[in-house]
Amino acid sequence: GAAPRLIAVDPATDRPGQSYRGHTSEEAKGFAREAHAAWLGWRRTSFAERAERMRAAAAVLRRRQAEFAALMTAEMGKTRTEGLAEIEKCAVNCDWFAEHAEGFLARRPVDMGPGSKAFVTFNPLGVVLAVMPWNFPFWQVFRFAAPTLMAGNAAVLKHASNVPGCALAIEAVFREAGFPEGLFRTALIPGKAVRELIEDDHLAAVTLTGSVEAGRQVAAAAGGVLKKCVLELGGSDAYLVLSDADAQKAAEVAAAARMVNAGQSCIAGKRFIVTSPVREAFEAALVEKMQAYRMGDPNDAATRLGPLQSVKARDDIHDQVRRSVAAGARLLTGGEIPDRPGAWYPPTVLSEVKPGMPAYDEEVFGPVAAVIEAAGEAEAIAIANASRFGLGSGVLTSDLARGERIAAEELEAGMSFVNANVRSDPRLPFGGVKESGYGRECSEFGIHEFVNIKSVLVA
Ligand code: NAP
Repeated sequence: GAAPRLIAVDPATDRPGQSYRGHTSEEAKGFAREAHAAWLGWRRTSFAERAERMRAAAAVLRRRQAEFAALMTAEMGKTRTEGLAEIEKCAVNCDWFAEHAEGFLARRPVDMGPGSKAFVTFNPLGVVLAVMPWNFPFWQVFRFAAPTLMAGNAAVLKHASNVPGCALAIEAVFREAGFPEGLFRTALIPGKAVRELIEDDHLAAVTLTGSVEAGRQVAAAAGGVLKKCVLELGGSDAYLVLSDADAQKAAEVAAAARMVNAGQSCIAGKRFIVTSPVREAFEAALVEKMQAYRMGDPNDAATRLGPLQSVKARDDIHDQVRRSVAAGARLLTGGEIPDRPGAWYPPTVLSEVKPGMPAYDEEVFGPVAAVIEAAGEAEAIAIANASRFGLGSGVLTSDLARGERIAAEELEAGMSFVNANVRSDPRLPFGGVKESGYGRECSEFGIHEFVNIKSVLVA
């Protein structure tokens, strides 16, 4: 039957914008078939040839940077400043993998003694399905696509339904950059159509960035047909504020960690676990730094906090705040829905956050910081680890050796930063443990996810 249309809604006004024709499951499977056909040629190309196209993709991104930033603002409310930075980050990522993929995937000789030659080679798997979220509409996709295509794979993108314009623009980037026709295709299909696509014979593997629930569904579908699966799921990143921390500096990092992308980031700092001696000073500083993110027109270069992705998402976040306050949390700033249309929510700080409150137990995907008090280092570590998530984490301290020890050895997370907010970078592996998912993106570890690590022995 006919596929439903996808309508982009401007979060700043809650008014519908452009609408797009969705694809049927049959069309999506046709894209997988075409991608597979394109892959048969692409897998035999040289790294030099792939790198040339990947650098061309970076150039397209830079040339159309302002246009793509505006598209993100219109579809999910990202500020223009953050949008421009996101596109540049995608371009840097393309250039980086163009430069390094060959080294990461070069044959590795293995000494098996005299009389035989052995090596490890890294062959592409085929077509990888990417199910992606709306919060970093370009970055999430390029983080996956640059290493995956450089490794000699093809891709089908199923993007979040609220960013159809971004989804099609990304396909256009690869086409404009001269990648073979069909090698990277966007399928505008709903989440419920994903299982059928995973089961399609032309797909070799799947990666999902999104919620825990979507991760479970995708992992189950991939498990049913025994296809490789990488999952980048939610997080409730904890930052420990130790008793030796400078409250001002700690609050600066904390606010930056919380307010990235209006708080809508998997690796946003969500729980600030503060040891008793610094709690008051930290809270005062945090409120001040959070309030500096004033709500404003996302198109204005000076704006640091635009609307959230949708009115529905905003209402859900407000409900988490309301229920936390009802259970005894203290509201230090924010917490009120402004009287105007659109998905607006102010920077909000909750103190005295305790188990049983949504701000303690759940992921809060918006500009809401939760302050949790701990008696000392050991208790702070225990609270940080008492989470079903394990994506990023941080330690704020003036004792670097202490911070390094806690980050390296104590925190149950895929990434632990000392005195800096966690961010993704092509040079560092990115991913989580526990319900934050499995597998890694970025770096040499990321590019090894979608290859056949093959042992060859010649006697
Ligand atoms: P979501 O609902 O899981 O959506 C993410 C993607 O999954 C969308 O393309 C969505 O399609 C699709 N999807 C939803 N249900 C599905 C299903 N049952 N089967 C297959 N696909 C399905 O995620 P969200 O709540 O919008 O995004 C925020 C979440 O993503 C947060 O939990 C955040 O922490 C996480 N996230 C993680 C990372 C990371 O790298 N670890 C990065 C960013 C975000 P539709 O839009 O069509 O439903």
